[in-house]
Amino acid sequence: MKYFKPDFELQHFSEITATWLQQNNIRTIFSDLDSTLAVHDQHGDEDVEKWVEILKKENVQLVIASNNSQERVDRFCKPFGIIGFGKCNKPSPHRVNQHMKDLQAQPETSLFLGDQLLTDIWCGKRLSIRTALVHPIGQEHEPIQIVLKRKIEAWIKKRW
Ligand SMILES: [Mg+2]
Repeated sequence: MKYFKPDFELQHFSEITATWLQQNNIRTIFSDLDSTLAVHDQHGDEDVEKWVEILKKENVQLVIASNNSQERVDRFCKPFGIIGFGKCNKPSPHRVNQHMKDLQAQPETSLFLGDQLLTDIWCGKRLSIRTALVHPIGQEHEPIQIVLKRKIEAWIKKRW
């Protein structure tokens, strides 16, 4: 079960600061959307806005990689001027890998950020990039299939 252990465990995405990015030499962040950056199917808030500004200042590219629809991703991305891909089919690495190639992101300086072990972290592991697990935002709004996945995740975490 150690296989699923992320490189970093964070409470919130805002713990990824300018200093943190420099220390860990991160140039590209592939991030999940729902429960990672915003409540499921909701807009990003001021925290996202501030964080995106920090990333832009640090010249770090943020790329949303979501299993939700492209419409959902576009609605989220537009106000912040960031790019994002829906229907990524995580934990399969194929689509995200293609986006990595298109964006010329280097595996050594890339990070996968997400709230789910069995989609986000597993996808990052299969891409051989570093991974950061965040505590889910707005857990009480999550659909039933995700609630069930959380139980499996808890089982895995106990066995790290
Ligand atoms: Mg999520």
